[in-house]
Amino acid sequence: TATIVWFRRDLRLTDHPALWEAAQEGLVIPLYILDPHESSGAAELWWRHHSLHKLGEALATLHLPLLLRRGDPLQILLEIIQSVAADGVVWNRRYDPRGIAQDTAIKADLQARGVSVRSFPGDCLVEPWLHHHDQQPYKVFTPFWKSLLARFPVAPALPQAALQPLPSELAQHLSSDSLADWQLLPQHPDWASRFPEFWEPGESGADTRLREFLEGGLLNYSKGRDFPAQPSVSRLSPYLAHGEISPRQIWQETQGHLLKNPELAAQGEHFLRELGWREFSWHLLFHFPNLPDTPLRPEFADFPWQNNEKLLHAWQRGQTGYPIVDAGMRELWQSGWMHNRVRMICASFLIKDLFIDWRKGEAWFQDTLLDFDEANNSASWQWVAGSGADAAPYFRIFNPVLQGEKFDAQGVYLRRWLPELAALPDHIIHQPWAAEPAILAKAGVALGIHYPRPVVDHAQARQKALDIFQDLKKKT
Ligand code: FAD
Repeated sequence: TATIVWFRRDLRLTDHPALWEAAQEGLVIPLYILDPHESSGAAELWWRHHSLHKLGEALATLHLPLLLRRGDPLQILLEIIQSVAADGVVWNRRYDPRGIAQDTAIKADLQARGVSVRSFPGDCLVEPWLHHHDQQPYKVFTPFWKSLLARFPVAPALPQAALQPLPSELAQHLSSDSLADWQLLPQHPDWASRFPEFWEPGESGADTRLREFLEGGLLNYSKGRDFPAQPSVSRLSPYLAHGEISPRQIWQETQGHLLKNPELAAQGEHFLRELGWREFSWHLLFHFPNLPDTPLRPEFADFPWQNNEKLLHAWQRGQTGYPIVDAGMRELWQSGWMHNRVRMICASFLIKDLFIDWRKGEAWFQDTLLDFDEANNSASWQWVAGSGADAAPYFRIFNPVLQGEKFDAQGVYLRRWLPELAALPDHIIHQPWAAEPAILAKAGVALGIHYPRPVVDHAQARQKALDIFQDLKKKT
């Protein structure tokens, strides 16, 4: 008989603890379940389609079918267990509130029926139940990270499991949906048409990306990571979000690379520390399951948000009239990803210039990001809003013009995403409304026609935001 390996956001064959363990013991039945009750962003479904396709291909070369089933996970597991008299079920743990609740309920149900269920560490460097000595969760990053490094050595990444082919007399009892029937890809319109220019989903794509980053971007990571036009960041986030690479693999490969290249130690440490922020987000979500919809600082519940669909739409589609914000939002729409520096600027703009509830921005990011990660997204939005743990101080309000001039001085990033402004000179491209009419005319830019005028006045908005934050502060 065989063990069912239930794949979730861990679509890979290497460093997959549940698969590894089951494969040591005998035959495995790889299974992926599309749960109609799980809320998924449209962009991440695009990625998932390709990721499942790649995983299926990799398993097929080992003469193993990847079973694809849509429906209620418990019912599907029960049906497969019965049809092939499976030995049991294994999975890697999830740490999101819905995943934890579902896994707990399924485990209890199956065990009550005498089915063996075993779970293994999921995709964190260490599992998120880390506490202060006073039994409180950490709310500040640096002590969290120090404690994690000191108390928990990161487990070594497991090699790829040696998998046996599934005998045909077993396989014939197993039925699978077809990936195409799930229709995870957008059709009319195909807004994902440019994604393949930027991404190669799948485990081998993740390995290539990591190797390229270690050989290239890492050299100037510390400084370069703030400059959106520079190829200094890893762009591993979509691969991590779908589990095509684990943080343990990144950790191990990076450490190995640093041993061979000791001059890169500072860059490497900085990179791993950023991976630590991902750990911190999962720690927060685990201990504060309301993180995606409730401000961690209760006084923020009283923030006087504005309901303005027109402004929200202008932000979503990169039509605010502030070039760095618009470039970021268009990068997101066209490539399914946005550089971290620009994410912070765009999020700050939504909250502190448009006064739109951060949860609306969080929802838009969830729908459009290929790397949507419930913990990172909600912790980051709360961080920018100032309502989260270890958050940006309330008076830090990003000035979109100064941020643009500082981190994209030559407008390379802007010109990539805002072709209508490409002919403007560098010194004015971050604030086209301040350009002389002759300069605009020469660049072929008619404000209000080719490119919008600013939808709000940043200086006024900033003052209003400061006043609101002062009021909120008085309530603490
Ligand atoms: P690198 O700089 O190469 O870092 C490597 C890895 O470290 C990343 O893949 C990521 O896992 C982690 N990391 C890096 N920076 C951060 C950070 N600030 N916070 C947490 N983890 C980090 N990240 C997501 O993965 N999913 C999200 O849904 C998400 N939403 C965000 C929303 C907002 C408003 C903001 C400001 C940030 C968000 N981030 C999110 C964090 C960060 O922007 C991305 O992780 C990063 O840009 C991914 O690019 P990279 O892989 O090239 O990062």
